[in-house]
Amino acid sequence: MQDKIGNKQIAGISLAITCMALRCFCCIWTPVQTPGEHNLRRNRKIKIVATLGPSSNDYNVIRKLYEAGADVFRLNMSHGTHDDIAARHAIVRQIEADTDSHIGILADLQGPKLRVGVFERDVEELIEGAPFRLDLDPTPGSVGRVQLPHPEIFAALEPGSNLLVNDGKIQLKVETCGGDFAECSVVIGGTISNRKGVNVPDVVLPLAALSDKDRADLEFALELGVDWLALSFVQRPEDVIEARELAKGRAAILSKIEKPAAVDAFDSILKVSDGVMVARGDLGVELPVQCVPPIQKRLIRACRAAAKPVIVATQMMESMIESPIPTRAEVSDVAAAIYEGADAVMLSAESAAGQYPVEAVTTMNNVAEEVETDPTYRAVIEASRQAKRESVADGIVAAAREIAETTDIKAIVCYTQSGTTGTLVARERPRVPIIAMTSHRKTARRLALTWGTQCILTVDLTRFKQAVVNSAKAAREFNYADEDDQILVTAGVPFNTPGTTNILRVAPCNEKLIYSTDPE
Ligand code: ATP
Ligand code: MG
Ligand code: MG
Repeated sequence: MQDKIGNKQIAGISLAITCMALRCFCCIWTPVQTPGEHNLRRNRKIKIVATLGPSSNDYNVIRKLYEAGADVFRLNMSHGTHDDIAARHAIVRQIEADTDSHIGILADLQGPKLRVGVFERDVEELIEGAPFRLDLDPTPGSVGRVQLPHPEIFAALEPGSNLLVNDGKIQLKVETCGGDFAECSVVIGGTISNRKGVNVPDVVLPLAALSDKDRADLEFALELGVDWLALSFVQRPEDVIEARELAKGRAAILSKIEKPAAVDAFDSILKVSDGVMVARGDLGVELPVQCVPPIQKRLIRACRAAAKPVIVATQMMESMIESPIPTRAEVSDVAAAIYEGADAVMLSAESAAGQYPVEAVTTMNNVAEEVETDPTYRAVIEASRQAKRESVADGIVAAAREIAETTDIKAIVCYTQSGTTGTLVARERPRVPIIAMTSHRKTARRLALTWGTQCILTVDLTRFKQAVVNSAKAAREFNYADEDDQILVTAGVPFNTPGTTNILRVAPCNEKLIYSTDPE
């Protein structure tokens, strides 16, 4: 009896010494990122993408956009010089360093988009019934003409063809045309300005997926170190594969769905893409506008089922380009995308060229916080979950969500290298926070686009117990949980083998408990 007690005491003392040694080791060598002074925790699941442009050019404004809620910044390669883009990229990375966070940067390639040239006075007002000429002359335009630097369009136009400018806001009808000009009449007037987009819905144009400019922009953006590359006017999966081959893993590839052909081939395009953008501007010009909402719903559902992030973009807060408050219809539109379960909502001209960029982000953030606390939101999100259980990882993330819903679990912590496990957990749309622990900064930045996922950097691990300790430490330090709480930890053992998620542990946040209860 005496002996037994003695043995227990000795075992207890040696356990305590081991614990102390390990804890000292952990204190000296910080295995997990700790929150910086300025690190922000978002109170919403959906992510916000803000396009940068002339209205959001300097550190202060971009920092305010980040603080107001922007998780990912979009650099539109269609506008501005490489120097402008490099400068904005550097500012975002500086803010990331200053705030100790992970910010996604998305470079949007122009693709085979037709655009007018520039105007002498930057902006002109076209009046209904007036003549307007398009030609190949690069001289800055006026109220009567502008360059359209695409000879292939002039070859394809016919009298009676319709041209739509600026997401369809202006309509021109071709009266007469030749190999290098088109004399048009203004059917619907409006404001036209530098490099506005042109669509010719009734004419099939023979355009390559990536122009020479796109190839140069792609290389430039990848050298800067962007996290996502968005491809405009994707029509076939081959277009995505071509860009993927050029990117060589340096960035994730996002397909913008804005052509009827892309809607038709959507399933095969999704398979070869890492994410999708519902690019409603051109989509609503290339197809009747009433087709856009059902397509938006279908694409969001398909992306969620495939665990790939989907962004809803264009005209979300359009009136905020000129007004500090949005229309009720715009608020409803943003809310609808949130209820539908999109990963992200996006601002284009509102944050790039509008008068109220910070207010636009703040408004989106407020709408998201309100919608996501609505009990109907949870009901809709849960009802729209499509069970797709094909792997151990699928089963584990589903089980994690179920456990988190039936017990008082404060967070689901997942170890992810490529980010795939992070997106799988996000697909479940759990009520509790998702903390993605990764040793790759690239993965943390890419996951900035994924619904509900907050990333924390950690060192490479070899033991599961260390993963549990690190998870608990991260959950406590980032204020997701207290000492007395429980979290869920998922990981793949052996570590550092992608695609092996095979452990789910309900863990205490108290380190002593972990050391005394967890197997190695
Ligand atoms: P896309 O089809 O890729 O969305 P877009 O022309 O619609 O291209 P957005 O980024 O959606 O461009 O922005 C909307 C508008 O904001 C642009 O048409 C342009 O007038 C203005 N804008 C955006 N970014 C810039 C920029 N960097 N420089 C100048 N103007 C910009
Ligand atoms: Mg577009
Ligand atoms: Mg746009």
